[in-house]
Amino acid sequence: MKSLWTCLVLAVLLHPEGLKPVTRTKIKTGLPTTGNLFIITTDGYRWQELFNGADSLLINSDDHTPDKETIKALYWAETIEERRKKLMPFFWNVVSIKGQLYGNRHYNNKVNTSNLYSISYPGYNELFTGNTDPSVSSNKKYYNPNINVLEYLDALPEFKGKVAAFTSWDVFPYILNEKRNGITVNSGYENMNEKDMSSEQVMINKVQDDAIAIKTTTRFDELTFLTAKEYINNNRPRVLYLGLGETDEFAHQGRYDLYLQQANAVDKMIADLWHWVQTTPGYKDNTTFIITTDHGRGKKTNRWMDHGEFISGSSQAWFAIIGPGILKSGEVKKDEQYYQVQMAGTIAALVGEEFNADKVLSLR
Ligand SMILES: [Zn+2]
Repeated sequence: MKSLWTCLVLAVLLHPEGLKPVTRTKIKTGLPTTGNLFIITTDGYRWQELFNGADSLLINSDDHTPDKETIKALYWAETIEERRKKLMPFFWNVVSIKGQLYGNRHYNNKVNTSNLYSISYPGYNELFTGNTDPSVSSNKKYYNPNINVLEYLDALPEFKGKVAAFTSWDVFPYILNEKRNGITVNSGYENMNEKDMSSEQVMINKVQDDAIAIKTTTRFDELTFLTAKEYINNNRPRVLYLGLGETDEFAHQGRYDLYLQQANAVDKMIADLWHWVQTTPGYKDNTTFIITTDHGRGKKTNRWMDHGEFISGSSQAWFAIIGPGILKSGEVKKDEQYYQVQMAGTIAALVGEEFNADKVLSLR
């Protein structure tokens, strides 16, 4: 529950004709702050694959992994350490050395969603608004009444017009309520229609127009990524959200081969973004990445495809963080419990602002 004071501040900050905010208390969270922050999610990706690599039963299953020879040649190895590195080389060659990874339950290091439902809209609501409003209970397209940290930041003068979201799933304009706040939310097959559009963006728009005939509601992650990257190149946002969706889609289809391939592709996209950041003045040594998911999935071999309140394992999540000043603790092996509801306050704190300050993560 937000304090009355926070509500009043939000009302002033977010009301279009509201008074200009004059004072903001900057909290001391102990978190290092950077000028820019990239938040990346890959929908319904399990901690099991992140920390253990490919599952031995699923990768050998005729039902879930067609052509297992190829998939095993790519992603199988005898030890957990080798397997996970094959599947997600950026996480295990870069983040594990220079950043932090949370959620390996073998060490009792736990990350959970707090909402009751363990599905996407409630998950992203929790992640971005810092509350677990029980009335947010379905994936239907309705405008979210809860204020999210992205619009909160965009309402601050230093961030105005410098916050943008690119997502594969077309429900995000509702989750983030772009109608209310007017932040850039590019989702599904929505074309970018900026003035002075680059020729690259014109080309991406054309490809999207063709791709929608093949695949409807959720855009190919690769197209979301390319659109976001083009936007970053041309508009230089300070806070960027990249929401990828195909890990969840392939899992629901029961295709473990495609789920693994997509996890590997997501890892590559993040590596590509990180490399861009580290070679671009203004972003280099001044950008933090926080990477997470909206929910877990069934932990049993016969339930991994699904998730929801009655499927055990669905609230189990993970997150990773890398950036200047973040301690290089790597895989955190301490007995601890974290919640996705802490993410919104943490996002603000990482760029030096206060939002749901009572729920900020304390990182090792
Ligand atoms: Zn799902």
